[in-house]
Amino acid sequence: MKTDEEIKKENPELYRVARQKGTEPAFTGKYDQFFEKGVYKCAVCGNELFISDTKFDAKCGWPSFYAPASKESVKTAVDTSYGMKRVEVFCPKCGAHLGHVFEDGPEPTGQRFCINSVSLDFEKKEDR
Ligand code: FE
Repeated sequence: MKTDEEIKKENPELYRVARQKGTEPAFTGKYDQFFEKGVYKCAVCGNELFISDTKFDAKCGWPSFYAPASKESVKTAVDTSYGMKRVEVFCPKCGAHLGHVFEDGPEPTGQRFCINSVSLDFEKKEDR
């Protein structure tokens, strides 16, 4: 796995988001308006996080999914930074910060996993 120093050198924006819990500016990420069939993996460690079947256009400026690829694909934790109570989403394998999950998503889960594009690597797969 890449060290924090390597991530910082190769991709400062990924370092800022994944390791410092930053947020990419809305409507700027490469996967916001992107709807090809495939899987989304952690940009730091390659862990499979989300599949395209659950991606929807939440019009919020970040890629949004109504569910993770599987129950074990992501972990969550309460985040009280910036005076807000939110639920942080992170990669269980490498601890990368991915984004937040909100309870205003579509059926069947009612959840919206609001994820930074920079934390994701897309892999095209026709059967997903
Ligand atoms: Fe990871």
